[in-house]
Amino acid sequence: MTQKKRNLMLSLAAGLLFVAMCGVSINFIREVEHLLWENSVKNILESTARGATLFQRGYLKELEMLNMLAYDLGNGVSSNSDRIRDKLKTFLTRANSVSVLVFEDGSGFLDSGQAVMLTPEERERVDALRGKSGLLFPRQSRGLEGRTFTIYTSVTFSDGRGAVLFMGNEMESLYMEYTLSFYNNTGFSYIVAQNGDIAMHPVHPSCSQTFSNVFEIISEKENDAALVQSFRESLKNGRSGVAVFSNSEGEKNVFCYAAMPRMDGWSVVSIVPNAEIMREANAMIREALVICFLGIAGVLAVFLVYRRMNNSYQKQIFDLAYTDRLTGIRNFSKFTEDGDRLLRAPGAPRYAMLSIDMLNFKIFNDVMGYAEGDALLKEFPRFLKRNGREGALIARRMADRFVVLLPYRDREELITYCAGLSRSVRVFLASRELSYRQDLRVGICCVEDCDADPDVNALFDRANMALKAVKYEGGRGRALNFYDHAMRDKILREKHLETRMEEALSGGEFLIYIQPKYSLAPRGLAGGEALVRWKDRDDIFLSPGEFIPLFENNRFITRIDRYMLESSCRLLREWMAAGLRPLPLSVNVSRVQFYTPEFVDTYIRMKTEYGIPDGLLELEFTESISVENIELFNSVVRRLRQAGFRCSIDDFGAGYSSLNMLKDLPVDTLKLDGGFFRFTQDDERARTVVRHMLNLAGELRMGTVAEGVETPEQVEFLERAGCDVVQGYVFGKPMPAAEFAELLESAAGRADIA
Ligand code: C2E
Ligand code: MG
Ligand code: MG
Repeated sequence: MTQKKRNLMLSLAAGLLFVAMCGVSINFIREVEHLLWENSVKNILESTARGATLFQRGYLKELEMLNMLAYDLGNGVSSNSDRIRDKLKTFLTRANSVSVLVFEDGSGFLDSGQAVMLTPEERERVDALRGKSGLLFPRQSRGLEGRTFTIYTSVTFSDGRGAVLFMGNEMESLYMEYTLSFYNNTGFSYIVAQNGDIAMHPVHPSCSQTFSNVFEIISEKENDAALVQSFRESLKNGRSGVAVFSNSEGEKNVFCYAAMPRMDGWSVVSIVPNAEIMREANAMIREALVICFLGIAGVLAVFLVYRRMNNSYQKQIFDLAYTDRLTGIRNFSKFTEDGDRLLRAPGAPRYAMLSIDMLNFKIFNDVMGYAEGDALLKEFPRFLKRNGREGALIARRMADRFVVLLPYRDREELITYCAGLSRSVRVFLASRELSYRQDLRVGICCVEDCDADPDVNALFDRANMALKAVKYEGGRGRALNFYDHAMRDKILREKHLETRMEEALSGGEFLIYIQPKYSLAPRGLAGGEALVRWKDRDDIFLSPGEFIPLFENNRFITRIDRYMLESSCRLLREWMAAGLRPLPLSVNVSRVQFYTPEFVDTYIRMKTEYGIPDGLLELEFTESISVENIELFNSVVRRLRQAGFRCSIDDFGAGYSSLNMLKDLPVDTLKLDGGFFRFTQDDERARTVVRHMLNLAGELRMGTVAEGVETPEQVEFLERAGCDVVQGYVFGKPMPAAEFAELLESAAGRADIA
């Protein structure tokens, strides 16, 4: 999944989570709102019921006290007015209340002792109460300022007179004791008669006392008639419960009612505006919401921070994984990804893959310093971009290796591109005043030459093969090389040889050929060089030029070298056993062999095992081995010479030979490369060089062997110039060991004759 897709998915998931959380929150809020409302209403109802119980209990206590007084009065001797006055005063006189005893004739006493006489209407009302006890609907009383809540009981004196005893409590004081208020005095409780008439109003200033019946604030229009009726029935039948009704303004009020059955079916009704209950609930919900919101915001913040960190972490990883540190351009992994996309794109132009190497860049670094080396490497991507067409994809493969996937029209364009690169490098170095020539080597594989599915890896492998081929040619070789079918055939051939080499070695397909060496003064066979030949199963001879570079690459050469040394040892032993005077045999030592840690020990052990006398085995090291690490070379050579090996420098003059170096090389023999003697007749300067070289070697007590000598003229020259030994077709080609043994025999014969 790409980064973009992953981000989209994450954002989507976060969005969904947010919506889901909002949905859950809204549902939760509704639920909480309902619960809170129910809870609040339950509390109001409970308070109301408690209030009702208290009020009723207070009433019953008062009534009982009144009944007891009535009983006491009735049991007295007579309705003697003094006694009555005295009793009333003692038992009923209190603040905010008034009591009165009224006889059947309408006369009576107040608790203060004052005599009263009722009006005919009052008498009529009192007459209706005779023989009963209970409460009266509050009304204005005569003795007190405001309305009173009055209870009464009947008295029958012992002299047969009847009376009614009243005790009225001032509403206000009563209310002080029993009133209930809710939600900051926005809701109150009322004492209501069965028909809904308000028996007692709260006295609180914020209570509007504009209605005298609870049904006045229940709008007929706004409410369901059945529900209103049911409430009416409940009040009438002394039931408790809760109802919600709107008033004429559409404002809802919650009615919580609790009956007082022993008070003529009166009830306590608490009326609280629904908005107030909700306000409280809403405040709690707001708090919950804030917490919820903070929670969601926190989760979102954590998520965002995580994403941000993750993105920047991913970017860092991406940069690390896909960018080259030094140059800042893409590395090969990214190049492969991007390149494959370009190659597969519909209507893609023709592409060529270029594998570019800075020839001997190690030397540039050594000579100019690493800072300059880095500067060139950093600048190089610009050259790669500048010299090519739009759409070139570039990357640094490693060290001094770059790759380019370049759209192109024809090969000429690619050649021009490479020339442009070289020019850019020259100009750059000149701009830094560096008098160094840094060459480039380029291997190119065009898409149409690719014999596999042309993806980046296939193209790069082939461009690289082309590059290897030109690098192999060294400093004087071509600057660029195109991968073609001949190269592919060569690669296939090499693959074939690689699969066969083990079997060939154990099956004896590698043969030892010996090329004789002749001394010039006196003339005679001086020895031979062991050279390997591969005679395959079909008796076809392969020349070392075909397989030695391959074996050097895959290190199989170390096995061949040891095999050749052992074969040489065996021959020398055979010849000695046959009574022949053996002559020195030289074997070649490859660079890979030289650098194997067990090299010297193995060679010395083998010489000892075969009991080869000192001086009969010579080891040839190519000149480049000695140049690479003179100290190591000298120590190795010293040990080998101590063990009785002779050592020589092979192909001297073919590479970077320096005469100056000769004095430091502790070798026995210098083998001069054949190229030295292929001069034209009148090339006197070249002759002088060879003459001096031979002289110098002689003075340094080194023997000299001229290799690749093909003509008698060359022999003549070498003889005059003081060369010791000649090896070349002029005297003999490399030959099978048996043939060489014959030469040995006849040479011995000749030696005997001489
Ligand atoms: P080298 O060690 O310099 O061997 C001399 C090469 O010059 C031989 O080629 C030989 O056949 C060739 N030669 C001799 N005289 C003449 C001449 O007059 N004219 C011309 N044009 N060439 C002449 P060969 O046998 O093909 O070997 C080539 C190279 O392969 C050798 O060069 C050596 O570097 C390597 N080689 C051969 N056998 C072995 C081996 O057993 N081990 C290792 N490490 N390398 C070997
Ligand atoms: Mg050699
Ligand atoms: Mg040689």
